[in-house]
Amino acid sequence: MSLKITRSKRLYKVAEGLMPGGVNSPVRSFRAVDGTPIFISKAKGAYIFDEDGNKYIDYISSWGPLILGHAHPDVVKMVKMAAERGTSYGAPCQKEIELSSLIVKSFPSVELVRMTNSGTEATMSAVRLARAYTGRDFIVKFEGCYHGHSDYLLVKAGSGATTFGIPSSPGVPKGFTDYTLLARYNDAKSVEQIFRNYKDRIAGVLIEPVAANMGVVVPKEGFLNGLRRITQDYGSLLIFDEVITGFRLGNGGAQETYGIRPDITCLGKIIGGGLPVGAYGGRKDIMNLVAPVGPVYQAGTLSGNPIAMAAGIATLRKLSERGVYNKLNERTSQLVGALREIINKYSIRARINSIGSMFTIFFSDGDVFDYASALKSNTNMYSRFFKGMLEAGIMFPPSQFEAAFVSLSHSARELHRTIDAFQSVIKKIRKQEEF
Ligand code: PMP
Repeated sequence: MSLKITRSKRLYKVAEGLMPGGVNSPVRSFRAVDGTPIFISKAKGAYIFDEDGNKYIDYISSWGPLILGHAHPDVVKMVKMAAERGTSYGAPCQKEIELSSLIVKSFPSVELVRMTNSGTEATMSAVRLARAYTGRDFIVKFEGCYHGHSDYLLVKAGSGATTFGIPSSPGVPKGFTDYTLLARYNDAKSVEQIFRNYKDRIAGVLIEPVAANMGVVVPKEGFLNGLRRITQDYGSLLIFDEVITGFRLGNGGAQETYGIRPDITCLGKIIGGGLPVGAYGGRKDIMNLVAPVGPVYQAGTLSGNPIAMAAGIATLRKLSERGVYNKLNERTSQLVGALREIINKYSIRARINSIGSMFTIFFSDGDVFDYASALKSNTNMYSRFFKGMLEAGIMFPPSQFEAAFVSLSHSARELHRTIDAFQSVIKKIRKQEEF
């Protein structure tokens, strides 16, 4: 690799002596693309800068939260102002009301909401709540969907778990996953079969309504409706994990896009504007089971802290402006359209799944519509693509099984540079293939 990353390499050596793999989240290690992690020193708009002074157009966007781009002036201003008033109170503050109200207004299915510090906590708490509400134990999840790292959801999970080929993690006692049932994404029949077998023992069906942790996989027509019908028929709850899709596909998330009303919704990422936030919410009669009103315990020392709330409020305010999503989604369509043309021109075995402002380039012959089809992708080819783009100053996710995110700060200039770089990289890959 001709990219100069000597400082990053040095820092990585030091970090490896202090943290497992030198990182605090596995995919950052670049192991999946056989690389060395790049240490970031700062970020602004569509760009991130590394410790060696290299500058990259960023499509990781902190794995989704930064829909406005890095260090957006409104977010920075609100965070600074909030910090001066104290970082955490351990007591209620007005900003919690404002962020909750922005969420409740955007998601008609969410009547009450509880803030957490991560998406993992949100899904974990949602599952606990569904079990308490229904008095049942089993949960259905889908192969290739990722809902954070809680024990019983780490079964055939996407994201880092797929990237590193960890079907379910050691350290999770067998009994902990006994109540987790696995269905196939985009296959309502597989869910129906499970319900026929387990009948009224299933508390809920947990799903990423648009899957993004096996790469982007969109739901086929009727699939989500099918889940709504089956769960209603069996008195089970439908839980949408919109940690990625919430405020990404539009203000009302995937449930607005597809016209489905889930019973519980999990949020994270964008609602925290780049600070650690998660949330779960839903119908009043369900949410009122949560302590202190009800008996379902869930808490957090830093939950609803004023700085994270401020970053979320600044972000959601901006997103509520007219035409924001049209602009973002249109730009992404143009980018994806141009990349598809290049793929066709050079007859590369690849295809792009895309919705809203997120997409994945799968190096695969066939359609990618579930976990099994995603796993058929050529991950070596992805590595070559990733490294080529990186050398050209463009940062894609360092794994085939993740989404690339476009932000409002990606302008025509950045998109054109991306398209040009993609053409050169694909040309090179094509040439190497011919020999
Ligand atoms: N659900 C989904 C759909 C996610 O993509 C993620 C994280 N990528 C999580 C839950 C977990 O969120 P966190 O990393 O904030 O715990």
